Amino acid sequence: RPIFRMQAVTKVYDTGGTKVHALAGVDLDLFGGELAVLLGPSGSGKSTLLNILGGLDHATSGHVWFRDLDLSVLKESALTRYRRDHVGFVFQFYNLVPSLSARENVQLVTDVARHPMPPDEALALVGLDHRLDHFPAELSGGEQQRVAIARAIAKRPEVLLCDEPTGALDSKTGVQVLEAIRDINERFGTTTIVITHNAAIRKMAHRVVRFHDGRITGVEVNQTRLAPR
Ligand code: ADP
Ligand code: ADP
Repeated sequence: RPIFRMQAVTKVYDTGGTKVHALAGVDLDLFGGELAVLLGPSGSGKSTLLNILGGLDHATSGHVWFRDLDLSVLKESALTRYRRDHVGFVFQFYNLVPSLSARENVQLVTDVARHPMPPDEALALVGLDHRLDHFPAELSGGEQQRVAIARAIAKRPEVLLCDEPTGALDSKTGVQVLEAIRDINERFGTTTIVITHNAAIRKMAHRVVRFHDGRITGVEVNQTRLAPR
């Protein structure tokens, strides 16, 4: 049984009478423990799909299941609970609080999570055990993004969603950030979905999903990586 199942999902944005079909009928199954990458040109619907899976937005039509939970019928409060309990997010911009240290940034999440790991442990997992008391301005872009990853995983989410986590980084630093994400996926079996243009992701992913104009145009399974449980 898939952890995520999307059936005939559409998303239409209506901005002042102009309709944009961001998703034009998507069917997709993703399995627990896998690392999937979404590829495709800008505007092809990747972020829209990620936001729907993460409960940040509703589909216009169709169904989206997280296990037995049909996200497409959830009210706002239930969707918020789903996000809080199950999903960690990483975006292109790190959104760290500048006046707080790396540890304190992670603590903002662990203070309210139900089964958090200690902030120092989360930061050690992304190779930042020597940067606990540093402030964001004292960290490189790659380090700031790794703090953001630590913050996302510190609540031990089952799902980690990463939207262009390497978008603001040079390609070598981007690879390091993707490796940190891959390590989390391998270590905890966290179901992970990544949008990135960094080519290094292809070797790391179990599944590559290609988008064009709001449709999935191909799904490849990477045989060189072991299938997840
Ligand atoms: P990608 O992530 O592949 O770049 P997006 O999902 O961001 O694609 O966008 C898909 C389409 O939906 C694009 O045409 C984009 O301009 C449009 N779009 C995305 N978000 C919004 C929004 N909030 N309002 C209106 N149009 C949007
Ligand atoms: P694919 O991996 O599907 O071949 P590409 O890497 O060729 O895709 O990039 C697809 C599109 O994204 C192109 O229009 C490219 O210019 C753009 N692009 C490539 N790298 C980045 C980046 N770091 N941030 C934003 N857009 C990018």
